[in-house]
Amino acid sequence: MENKENTILEGLNAEQRKAVECTEGPMLIVAGAGSGKTRVLTRRVACILARGGDPSRILALTFTKKAATEMKERIGRMIGRREAWKIWMGTFHSIFVRILREYSEVLGYPRTFTIYDTSDSQSAVKACIKELGLDDKYYKPKEVLSRISLAKNDLVTAAAYRNDSQRISDDIRARKGRICDIYSMYSEKCRNSGVMDFDDILLNMNILLHTSEQAGTEIASRFSHILVDEYQDTNVAQYKILRYLAGRHHNICVVGDDSQSIYAFRGAKIENILNFRKDYPECSVIRLEKNYRSTVNIVNAANSLIAKNVNRLPKTCVAVGEEGDKIRLLNAFSAQDEAIMIASSITERMRSDHAAYRDFAILYRTNSQSRAIEEVLRKRNLPYAIYSGHSFFERAEVKDMMAYFKLVVNVNDDESFKRIVNVPARGIGDTSLLALGAIAKDQGCSLFKAAYSENFADYGLKPAASAKIRTFCDMISKFAAMQVDGDARSVSGDLSDACGLYAYHKGDTSIEGQSRAANVEELLNSVYQFVDERRAEYIDQMMADGMSEEGAELECPAVTLGEFLENISLLSNVDIETDEDATNKIALMTVHSAKGLEFPYVFVSGMEENVFPSGGQMASPAEIEEERRLFYVAMTRAKEAVYLSFARTRMRHGKTESNSPSRFIREIDSEYVANPLSSSEFDDDSSSSGMGGSGFSRFGGFGSRGNAGMQAGRGAAYDRNSSSGFNRASGSGFNRNFGLGYGAGRGTGAGSGGFRNTGGGMSPQHGGKYREAAASASRDIARKKTELGQRPLPPKVADDANFIPEPMTAFKAGQRIEHNRFGRGSIIEISGTFPDLKAKVKFDDFGEKLLLLKYAKMRFEG
Ligand code: ATP
Ligand code: MG
Repeated sequence: MENKENTILEGLNAEQRKAVECTEGPMLIVAGAGSGKTRVLTRRVACILARGGDPSRILALTFTKKAATEMKERIGRMIGRREAWKIWMGTFHSIFVRILREYSEVLGYPRTFTIYDTSDSQSAVKACIKELGLDDKYYKPKEVLSRISLAKNDLVTAAAYRNDSQRISDDIRARKGRICDIYSMYSEKCRNSGVMDFDDILLNMNILLHTSEQAGTEIASRFSHILVDEYQDTNVAQYKILRYLAGRHHNICVVGDDSQSIYAFRGAKIENILNFRKDYPECSVIRLEKNYRSTVNIVNAANSLIAKNVNRLPKTCVAVGEEGDKIRLLNAFSAQDEAIMIASSITERMRSDHAAYRDFAILYRTNSQSRAIEEVLRKRNLPYAIYSGHSFFERAEVKDMMAYFKLVVNVNDDESFKRIVNVPARGIGDTSLLALGAIAKDQGCSLFKAAYSENFADYGLKPAASAKIRTFCDMISKFAAMQVDGDARSVSGDLSDACGLYAYHKGDTSIEGQSRAANVEELLNSVYQFVDERRAEYIDQMMADGMSEEGAELECPAVTLGEFLENISLLSNVDIETDEDATNKIALMTVHSAKGLEFPYVFVSGMEENVFPSGGQMASPAEIEEERRLFYVAMTRAKEAVYLSFARTRMRHGKTESNSPSRFIREIDSEYVANPLSSSEFDDDSSSSGMGGSGFSRFGGFGSRGNAGMQAGRGAAYDRNSSSGFNRASGSGFNRNFGLGYGAGRGTGAGSGGFRNTGGGMSPQHGGKYREAAASASRDIARKKTELGQRPLPPKVADDANFIPEPMTAFKAGQRIEHNRFGRGSIIEISGTFPDLKAKVKFDDFGEKLLLLKYAKMRFEG
């Protein structure tokens, strides 16, 4: 124990030690970037465990799945991997989805509820706008959704929204007075379809805790310690959950930096940090004042910049490292020129410092800025990985296959139904769909259920048309039954064959057709990889809970398609790379996505008014402060050197703009800049040719800021991640990070040029790469299928589909039971505490076994 604690405290300064060692009671750690907050949080969890804490009672919340995985791995190395994997560690969304599934019935949702991604939500909102007879050019779905999202994050339900005079009058002022109706209809649609969007996860978690006393007490009593990283970016909904869960024991430790609060547009409340001391007056406050990440010059430059913010907590942050290089400015004529300068600086650095590709990050304010940079990197053969969020999952063919997955997991998911009912074409036209929609509306049911209505003819549907719809729905039904506890691997493979999507694209011999087929294959590969990794995790967990390896192999539940979907919908930008082989590549991402990461050399591109800060002259002081914090985050990612680049002209929104260098460049104390600009080089008179009001349309009262931010921060933005990290994919397309992460440091990479489909057509040289990828993906699938075929099947006694197990709390010692695989037997003993109850059972045919009841399927002998 002593030894373990010594290891845990190694490499910490006095303040950090204090924070780690004081494991009980509330604690607030507010400190600047790179001061070791995340390190402290990690060690603190390890310390609780070393002192005998139960890992399954620790709740540790991070901002991305990748961060959670890295943390788990580190704790695993200090304390033991098995213990580490029992910790409830992940993002708010991933952890709370797990809990919500357990209590879904209390909330009136099916246990198999699915999660809408942003584009699902947007099309559902669009459908509501249409149904209400409103104009979607005026009520823009994206803006309406952002408004609804903000309300949900403030815990304002659709019903409460109507009575919220402030919101209603804001809407009326913005001439969008019907948003309350759209919100109501959207909520109803989601509920009827058995789906939640990202914001519903937090909203429903609050509803559960605050309305069901039993559920609330049960959930809160699961956790003895709560730890939260990046606390400055929590919103009201998250705050309320934490407050409830820590209500009894007050063992809550939050770490954050108010200067890095960058999600106000999404409802993050800096007040959460400020109020912590009020909520827990007995709390210890720890300040970490040494920056271990960056050189003296970088820290000083960043400090001089952030000092310009009026709203901030006073903090000291001193670098312990070397003086280092001054900040370098790259002054370019155009975006392309800027990209060339960045590429040349990278090559130069690599030569002078013997740096590797992975040591570089190129950051930008919005994703659209990456195109020019990518083009140049590609031409120069500089390998890069782009973290543009869900770009792989945004490809039409991938979305189609995903819609099949979603529909079989939740047949009432109307958005998915509409998307694929006639993809590939099966002769189900708009008329049939309109009729089906009318039936669904009249009967208050989903489109899928409407398909089985008796009175098709009354709605003008001919028997041939209804037969086609039913054939489609029968296929979906069949897979819906299979997926309940069927292995995602076989369900997804068979479904892809049965629905004809893969064959359809494969049959198109154009380069585009082949690449679409390769993408569908890649998606299947990702299911297979996920199944393998999740299975390994389960087995690990079961063994950690005392089961033998053989028992765990046998008892391991099937990894279902539902689990795969949940994992995908909760990934963030940083958790998804677009390409294979993530070992040694330059990282490209938005500043929002870079939060918490570090790289030796950082380029911040597009340092121009209107770009960064976005909104430029039209932004409010509060908005500028948030942009400044964002820039502070960007600079403080660097260990060795920061380059700031700007272009005098840039194509944006289809027009050439010319903006002056960003005010933020001027705000950095010039003594820390190698080549500062003279005042004449900052002409405040930024103009844009033909911009005519398009530049930044600000939307009365709300909208534009939200949207700008939404675009930029996209995935990381929604904090929809779960608990895991980076894996190498053998196939192609993107790297899906489901399982065990890899080591420390930046954990990013990947992405050879030619691979990213930037929206336009594909050039021939990329086709070759795609073909290669397709071939490799096929080989992979074939190999996996063979492996699967060779794997010995466990003994099977009952038919799984018809086996309805009893809840785990129903069993007592002495009872006769029936197990789905081992058959009949008698319970010798029940041990452990909920939810980790174990049963020792003497089976008539298989002898004695220890079963973890949350995995075992048992019912009373009948
Ligand atoms: P951010 O605000 O960006 O999230 P942070 O405060 O969480 O940063 P960490 O990421 O924990 O900072 O630490 C920054 C870097 O400094 C890491 O590389 C970490 O390993 C290192 N570090 C932290 N504390 C120490 C220490 N006492 N001695 C040496 N290195 C340290
Ligand atoms: Mg951190």
